[in-house]
Amino acid sequence: CGIVGYVGPQDSLEIVLEGLRRLEYRGYDSAGVAVLADGRLTTAKKAGKVANLEKELAEEALPASTIGIGHTRWATHGGPTDRNAHPHVSADGTVAVIHNGIIENFAPLRAECEATGIEFSSETDTEVVAHLLAAVYRETPEGPDRFAEAMRQVSRRLEGAFTLVATHVAEPDRLVASRRNSPLVVGVGDGEYFFGSDVAAFIGHTRVALDVEEDQVVLLDREHGVTVTDFAGTVVEPATRTVDWDA
Ligand code: GLU
Repeated sequence: CGIVGYVGPQDSLEIVLEGLRRLEYRGYDSAGVAVLADGRLTTAKKAGKVANLEKELAEEALPASTIGIGHTRWATHGGPTDRNAHPHVSADGTVAVIHNGIIENFAPLRAECEATGIEFSSETDTEVVAHLLAAVYRETPEGPDRFAEAMRQVSRRLEGAFTLVATHVAEPDRLVASRRNSPLVVGVGDGEYFFGSDVAAFIGHTRVALDVEEDQVVLLDREHGVTVTDFAGTVVEPATRTVDWDA
């Protein structure tokens, strides 16, 4: 339903929660966040309103972090429970992913993951992406494009509609996203970058937006900014626009 991602110098949790609040008008049944700090992912997720999640966060604070993702969910596969709320984390703890849409072929992919001994912790169609991304990343050669390349490989195997945003414990300076038949916008700030399911997610911080086209993967890098490719890896030049409505 709603998607927010942030990488930059500021506290990511504050920015992600603010984005989720601005996306509340879309309607949703649960909300969650994941932040990456000191090589570890920490998540908090709750059925109900963003305020519910914030209450939980007030009781149990997440570590300070400058890279994070957040989601409001409209359940399609698996009931609206804490466990089924996003982000979903891979069994090895390396990847956290949020998803809008439906992965139509999740059942055979889930069976494939289970055959390798992975135990699922939710009933969602989404969770399979976390496990696949973790496995493909392990097999992908090191380098600045590794995370995006893993996302491209996974995306090519998915059927249906998806906006995916992922974070990886070995990639503290990068967020990666993928899009097919589901909206995704990038916000470009001053040394900081945002993902949003729409510009409302980051309008309080920047008005420079970049529209992502169908079947594209986007890498946000703290130092090198935005790189967009198609699912085959060919670099495409995204069009930038200025958002001119009042927040
Ligand atoms: N299909 C996913 C789920 O049920 C994502 C739903 C959404 O777009 O929020 O968890």
